[in-house]
Amino acid sequence: MAAAITGRLVEREENCRVCNEKSGEQIAIVDYWDIKTSRLISCPVCNHIQLDPMLNDEETAKGCLAYYIEESLRTGTKEQIKNCIRNFRRGLVFGLSLKHKKISPLSVLELGPGSGYFSAGLQFVFPAAEISVMDVNTEVLKFNQEHHNYKIIQGIPDNFLPGHTAKFDLVIARDIIEHVSDISKVLSNINLYLGPNGYFHFLTPNGHEDVWKHYLTAVLANAPSELLINHVNYYDGKGLKDLLLQKGFKPVDYYTYNLKTTMRGAGWKKDRKLMSPVSRKSSADFFLKEKAIEVSNTELIKKTILDQWYIRSRAKWITYAYSLFQHFSLIRVNPGYNAGHEIYGLFKKT
Ligand SMILES: [Zn+2]
Repeated sequence: MAAAITGRLVEREENCRVCNEKSGEQIAIVDYWDIKTSRLISCPVCNHIQLDPMLNDEETAKGCLAYYIEESLRTGTKEQIKNCIRNFRRGLVFGLSLKHKKISPLSVLELGPGSGYFSAGLQFVFPAAEISVMDVNTEVLKFNQEHHNYKIIQGIPDNFLPGHTAKFDLVIARDIIEHVSDISKVLSNINLYLGPNGYFHFLTPNGHEDVWKHYLTAVLANAPSELLINHVNYYDGKGLKDLLLQKGFKPVDYYTYNLKTTMRGAGWKKDRKLMSPVSRKSSADFFLKEKAIEVSNTELIKKTILDQWYIRSRAKWITYAYSLFQHFSLIRVNPGYNAGHEIYGLFKKT
């Protein structure tokens, strides 16, 4: 189903972070806010697509904050609460899938936990599990500590923290690996954080579909496109699996799901409606300096958020049944086909 994405062969500024290849095909030019202009380069050897040159930490931090403000103003409190509940159910369904496989994690590390509700759902299934979360943002850590009582670690996945070697039997990274600057290093670090027989769970966009909108802007409008959220990696289904194998993991579950976007043409249809907007070099400073003041800090209360008719600690089967009904994906596709919206992975340390 997936159509080929091709571009002209160019010299890269930085070698491929997956296979160290020096050449690449330029498939689009993107503006990360008004912060940096980069190219999206596809690797002819491993099919990984990444930003060249990559964003540095300072650029990422600035753009992420601008995005956070823009997004907070766009989505209200009601939507935030809905997202918390949705993530709780997803964490719960994930927990059930582990239970089904006779896997019972006791020590869990979640990278970039956001609201922390995914791990809260997991903990509903495994009350004895101790959750630690790693993030660079102090506010996120403070929220997770006060709201969920998790252990907190300040850091980014790219930088190895030796104090946590072999401490965990499950590492979770949902919507994280598309943002990291060096995926090879990140996977090596995760492997080291895991104890023997540990598991790694991730979720990431299907890179082929995710990059399609930028590719279309390049070929149909012949213009740079807008990159407001820092997706700096676009994973090929087979390439990602090969890299995981090489980094000491073996697949337990590996599939893509949610084919709605594929049906609508993402990844194969050359339609202007699917293009990413042509870049206007949106001003990050505008959000940081003019709009930040409008972001209200909503008080989220866990007890209120989880006060849903189907969430019952004394009749967990009701919670399980409802969450499975909402989130279990029946249709599962081999990521090697690069169809579907997201890649789901559960890998075991070898
Ligand atoms: Zn490569």
